[in-house]
Amino acid sequence: MDTSKTSKKKFKSGDTIMRQGEEGKSAYIIEKGRVEIFVSKNGSKEQSVGTRGAGTLIGEMAIVDNAPRTATIRAIEDCSLLEITQDDFSRRLQLADPVLKMTTQIILTRYRDMLARSELAGNNKNWPPPEAIELSYTEQTDAVKNIKIANEFSSALKNNEISLHYQPILNLQTATISGFEALMRWEHPKKGFISPGIFIPIAEESGAILDASRFALQESCLALKRIEHRAGYKDELFMSINFSSADFASEDFVGSAYKTISKSDVRPKQVHIEITERLLMNQPDDAKETLKMCRKAGMSIAIDDFGTGYSSLSYLHQFPIDTIKIDQQFVRDMHKNENSMALIKSIISLGKNMKMKIIAEGVEEKEEATTLKELGCDMAQGYYFARPVSEIDVTNLLKKWEKPIF
Ligand code: C2E
Ligand code: CA
Ligand code: CA
Repeated sequence: MDTSKTSKKKFKSGDTIMRQGEEGKSAYIIEKGRVEIFVSKNGSKEQSVGTRGAGTLIGEMAIVDNAPRTATIRAIEDCSLLEITQDDFSRRLQLADPVLKMTTQIILTRYRDMLARSELAGNNKNWPPPEAIELSYTEQTDAVKNIKIANEFSSALKNNEISLHYQPILNLQTATISGFEALMRWEHPKKGFISPGIFIPIAEESGAILDASRFALQESCLALKRIEHRAGYKDELFMSINFSSADFASEDFVGSAYKTISKSDVRPKQVHIEITERLLMNQPDDAKETLKMCRKAGMSIAIDDFGTGYSSLSYLHQFPIDTIKIDQQFVRDMHKNENSMALIKSIISLGKNMKMKIIAEGVEEKEEATTLKELGCDMAQGYYFARPVSEIDVTNLLKKWEKPIF
């Protein structure tokens, strides 16, 4: 274990390390020495429930949740302890390999669940102390369900259960279709339609997103070529594809994306790489490099869900960005909430100053479309114009496009 950033604490024989009922913010790994664990039931006299030596963990409830200490622990020899704070633990967990992260989360969920059940059964939560309880579970927790979905998703990719739908993105000034966003769809043979809102975060955690993104890029480029051909367009429309931070962190992301695009015969500038504002904020340095390389290879960059990540608008100068997509929540609220309207206005004027195109997402009402057009917003996407549909439907839509009125 890398303990280089973990602080050490020393206790003399007889010292109290933690007290039952007090708030705890750290767990400890015993590096040297021995401790004794005492528990007091309903305020009665302390009772010893065991001792622990080097290599064991004590006070772990502090990193499971914010419950008070469940036992009093005293050093019975001079001790050296490695402190793991809640913050340190969450930080390490965020950085962990996806399998490790998921397994740890399952164990923590079970641990919490076990305590809740002992409480429901009318037992005192402090008795027996967690340290003394055997972990044995058969029930499925959310985390176990997630692992199941992650496994099923990997097979679904191989078995062609995953497909793409395409949602038109309109030029607001001409009311014509400029491009599409590719959105993943999963039709499970038994469970039916599963929302990307559920399976994408799970695929991101399990690592399956890498194969999914490769599939999405390849399939949507081939589809764009077919759509253009059948509807009588040539290299005019764009295809926007969603990518996650794992894609950006993967080796040779740009090189392999470029190869896929070239094979499909789509021009790189027709491909819009969509990443969220959050990704940009969380990994600014890595993202900057990858985005620069995407740009060099001719691809276009769009920032998704803009306005939700609390980045300052001037921050965007640092990145090679072509398009900003205003998050749906602001469009939904624009006529009810002055702040949302102000944010939309400032994003549009920022776009003009920085020569970026602005897309408003989630346009459902005619009134929203009219206002956005009047404000000078370049493009829009939403149920008012068209829902995401299959390749066949989107081709037919394009062939018989009737300009919406707004
Ligand atoms: P997103 O990238 O923000 O995509 C837009 C979502 O808004 C889509 O939901 C779309 O169907 C929905 N939408 C479009 N217009 C309207 C509207 O007028 N009203 C409302 N209420 N919703 C509208 P969907 O398809 O369920 O996807 C949800 C999220 O899942 C996406 O949000 C994206 O974050 C993720 N996702 C979907 N496909 C992919 C993919 O291929 N790769 C990755 N990494 N993420 C994906
Ligand atoms: Ca998107
Ligand atoms: Ca979005």
